[in-house]
Amino acid sequence: MSINFHEEAVALLPRMVEVRRDLHRHPELAFQEVRTAGIVASTLTELGLEVQTGIGKTGVIGLLEGDHEGPTLLVRADMDALPILEANETDYISGEAGKMHACGHDGHTSIGLAVARMLNERRSDIHGRVKFVFQPAEEIGQGAKAMIDDGALEGPRPDFSIGLHLWNDMPVGKVAVTAGACMSAADIWQCTITGSGGHGAQPDKTIDPIVAASQIVTAVQSIVSRNVDPLDTAVVTIGAIHGGDAFNVIPPTAEIKGTIRTYRKETKQMVHQRIREICEGIAQAMGCEAKVEIISMTIAVDNDAAISDRIAGIAAGLVGEENVIRDERTMGSEDVSLFMDDIPGCYFFVGSANAERGLNYPHHHPQFDVDEAAFPIAAALLAEAAASFVIPEN
Ligand SMILES: [Zn+2]
Ligand SMILES: [Zn+2]
Repeated sequence: MSINFHEEAVALLPRMVEVRRDLHRHPELAFQEVRTAGIVASTLTELGLEVQTGIGKTGVIGLLEGDHEGPTLLVRADMDALPILEANETDYISGEAGKMHACGHDGHTSIGLAVARMLNERRSDIHGRVKFVFQPAEEIGQGAKAMIDDGALEGPRPDFSIGLHLWNDMPVGKVAVTAGACMSAADIWQCTITGSGGHGAQPDKTIDPIVAASQIVTAVQSIVSRNVDPLDTAVVTIGAIHGGDAFNVIPPTAEIKGTIRTYRKETKQMVHQRIREICEGIAQAMGCEAKVEIISMTIAVDNDAAISDRIAGIAAGLVGEENVIRDERTMGSEDVSLFMDDIPGCYFFVGSANAERGLNYPHHHPQFDVDEAAFPIAAALLAEAAASFVIPEN
């Protein structure tokens, strides 16, 4: 690909910074991205894209039609902030107490708009179309599903799908493009154990759900250590356990709640099955009854190998081969995976940390901030990656 998007992206940096800081000052939580969506929609409309608003409550779609026939590429950016009180001291600090762009989605929105601007200049070269999807509510894992339920993957259905995350686990100048599964599926599991309550001094007249719950907590630890292939990976976490209110009362019920993270679909099914077996089996052995509920939040981000390889090559042209990481994996989750389900694509990470400037706090930290020097790299890479689908080499 001969187009030098990097030069253009560098020229767009002041605008990207301005948009990003404005969004940073006005963070909006999941499904409340009204102001943000308004800015996105008006920018895309100004560019001349076909714009749809209110997709998945506050989502926006901008369709860029090329002058020639060809495939449809989905480019995704997320827009939501987090319920965190910002502890930074910048002049673009959040003006909304208790709300903060602590994951970099303000940057994603700004970068997505810059990419739309750059590709729009090349309408006459584009074979096919680019569907820019500005998604709400990524942080609660519901935005992608809401947009898809509202038809985001129809009219036209994308043939390919790409997106990026600014990544404070890596310094500016590094890019991570990983083939295969690189972010996990996330499920919520909960188990209600019902026994029979009574006096704490008369356990023989009760069926104690707390004792059963305790054994379940211990037994589910064996799923990852004994049932999951040691060369595969999974997480089973219990994040909450509740039962009882008083020191001398055996309660009638106890509740356990947690998360399951997996890469492979088969592993996910197996873990679900083992959780059910363990909860129901132990509860029964203890004279209780267990009701297990498992809610699937997102599926794993599973990058297409050939597309990832191509994008890694483009990244190497931008930042140098030595700065392209090809095996960055996390058990964190991203609902961008729903836009990639049965649609080949790649979701990649662009380093955004700068330790010298103190811009290296982890995502979701009250002092999180990114080095905006990452923006031209991110925008150029996303634009060039997009071009590799819809602008044939000549
Ligand atoms: Zn986040
Ligand atoms: Zn995020």
